[in-house]
Amino acid sequence: MTRPAIARIALNRPLRRLFDYLIPDSLELAPGQRVTVPFGRQTLTGLVVEIGVEPPPGVNLKAIKGTLEAWPALPDNTFNLLTWASDYYQHPLGECLFTALPPALRRGRPAQEKADESWHPAATEAVLPANAHRQVDLFNAIKESPGISSSALVKSGFSRAQIRNLQQKDLITEGAKAITAPATKDLPAPTLSAAQQAASAQMPEHTHEFSATLLYGITGSGKTELYLHYLKTHLNANEQALVLVPEINLTPQTLARFRRYFGNRIQVWHSALNDGERLSTWLKIRNGEPVILIGTRSAVLLPFSHLRTIIVDEEHDSSYKQGEGFRYSGRDVAVYRAHLNRCPVILGSATPSLESWHNAQQGKYQLIRLEERAGNAKPPQLELLDIRSRPLEAGLSRPTLNSIKETLARGEQALVFVNRRGFAPVMMCFDCGHLEECPRCDTRLTYHRRDHAMRCHHCDFQMAASHTCPKCQSENYKPVGQGTERTEDTLAEQFPDTPIVRVDRDSTQRKGSIQAILKRVNTGESCILVGTQMLAKGHDFPNVTLVCVVNADGGLFSVDFRAPEQMIQTLLQVSGRAGRGDKPGKVLIQTCHSDHPLLTNLCRGNYAAIADQLLAERETGTLPPYRAMAIVRAEADTMQNSLQLLDTLKPMAQSPGIEIWGPLPAVIARKADRHRAQLILCSDSRGHLNRVLTQLCQYLDQARLPSSTRWVVDVDPQETG
Ligand code: ADP
Ligand code: ZN
Ligand code: ZN
Repeated sequence: MTRPAIARIALNRPLRRLFDYLIPDSLELAPGQRVTVPFGRQTLTGLVVEIGVEPPPGVNLKAIKGTLEAWPALPDNTFNLLTWASDYYQHPLGECLFTALPPALRRGRPAQEKADESWHPAATEAVLPANAHRQVDLFNAIKESPGISSSALVKSGFSRAQIRNLQQKDLITEGAKAITAPATKDLPAPTLSAAQQAASAQMPEHTHEFSATLLYGITGSGKTELYLHYLKTHLNANEQALVLVPEINLTPQTLARFRRYFGNRIQVWHSALNDGERLSTWLKIRNGEPVILIGTRSAVLLPFSHLRTIIVDEEHDSSYKQGEGFRYSGRDVAVYRAHLNRCPVILGSATPSLESWHNAQQGKYQLIRLEERAGNAKPPQLELLDIRSRPLEAGLSRPTLNSIKETLARGEQALVFVNRRGFAPVMMCFDCGHLEECPRCDTRLTYHRRDHAMRCHHCDFQMAASHTCPKCQSENYKPVGQGTERTEDTLAEQFPDTPIVRVDRDSTQRKGSIQAILKRVNTGESCILVGTQMLAKGHDFPNVTLVCVVNADGGLFSVDFRAPEQMIQTLLQVSGRAGRGDKPGKVLIQTCHSDHPLLTNLCRGNYAAIADQLLAERETGTLPPYRAMAIVRAEADTMQNSLQLLDTLKPMAQSPGIEIWGPLPAVIARKADRHRAQLILCSDSRGHLNRVLTQLCQYLDQARLPSSTRWVVDVDPQETG
């Protein structure tokens, strides 16, 4: 047989196509390998997708210039995962594949090996095919001189690819910078409570078989402790694990707990790493070092070769879904990855997503319930405070202020949750009714008093705030509604001697500021915390005994079908910050709808019942997870252009089994001067929906659109506004 002469290459371009190149005689190629190719006048980094393809007739192909390393940057299972994701999310393969490379490797930099890797035998005999002479020789060379370096082996005529090959077969291990035991001497893990033990006994036994488990454990039930225990008892010393978290910087404590048990086996992956750190961690993972990686969304795409467990913490969190570009869900990709890898995936949450809850109901996921708090902590008491006819002090009712006062008098901490940053979401003229709007978006500007600015939270517009109405010059021009700054001011007036700590995106912009804030709160000093969602996520503040929700009603009447689910999740998560230590916790929820069934159910603290009820509503409305959904979004200079494009697509999408809603303008129809519209497609058959989307993308790729018109396909959208 002659050698395949043509390779199909993926480039890091938003193009739904691959490029064919001739393979020079001297090159050995494998799928997933990095190569350099000529492209126009440039030289680009590409990834080999296929080898031995038929050359298209009559085309003069250029040749690949060379390889960047002898081994595939993306090994089979990662490559297959990304190929699947590219198809599932309708995103160009090239961009999907390149997401799994660190920035340095995307730019064609060398995958620099650490100079002094040293090798040890990991088996007594090498079980290798009879004709693999070089590999047997290599194994023997390492066995004869344990600790021999890569460079010494290369000098003796072995290749790095051969070394890596033996490593992948688990015949040798890398020793010098091998990841070792805990940094701190084996700290005894706390004895699991009876409830934790019962949950632990139900965790998946086999780490070499696919299983999906939903760990539904109320806030403070000790899920993190269970993960630690699971990894400690099930993960072998040479295996890799992945722990996905929504955001690392917000939970330095969790990271510290993992480090205490696993020392420098713990590595992190998140957006604040620099290129050097990314490359170094990427190489550890690619080299099969026994890393336990704690990472955000994109960590699920990394080229693990010995991955034996995946944990997705706070699996309901909407930040697992990427909101732009390659719109994948880190959680859903994790489940598929576990399937490809034949290993367990454990999804943990106190407020599981309705998707996962449904899968558990269907028996697709095993459900483990952990409904007691760990240690001496008791679940908090939730109470609704109807504020319809109560006088308010900048949004806070008398009973709320009294409860805060009592909490502080006991030397404890109170947390006040406001879902808006800034001072007030609206500036309004009480004479002419003028509302200050963003000139570029269909939204109101938020008033930020600290720097006397009006800001749009949807684009980067800002301007100086005015003291008088810009329209009629009246001085009766005032902020309306509550933001964190305003609540902070009111509380400072009411409690002049108490430290008030505001936590929102504005107060935590500087690097390290969130860490400083958390450290301060963890001293346990009596204080009031005021903040947004950032305070709801995963924190463990033992001295917070009171949580006040300024207004719970945001999600009750939204057009987005996910809004009630997200509202309940946020409320329960923020409530879960109360009473996590030895002292009991109380939660006061201010609302204008104290008889709303969602809120009354919430106060019974039973998320399972709420999830069942919300699922029943989704079933009636034939919404996800009962059907697959995708949105085609368009944006253009005019709404007419956006709608027109979607109108053209609609008849192409029409087919039995597909229901179409729209095209309709988005809820915020104009954002940063772009006019946005959407077409929603639903189907009982995900496969059918996927095929229709593929056709639409093919059409759109070739369509001659006005130069400013953009479109995207969003599969399993998290936002439908
Ligand atoms: P979750 O992740 O479910 O919110 P954590 O694992 O953070 O819960 O545990 C909540 C608190 O209870 C933490 O302070 C943790 O140290 C403590 N904790 C967990 N398990 C135990 C246990 N078995 N004994 C004593 N304290 C525990
Ligand atoms: Zn006015
Ligand atoms: Zn704007």
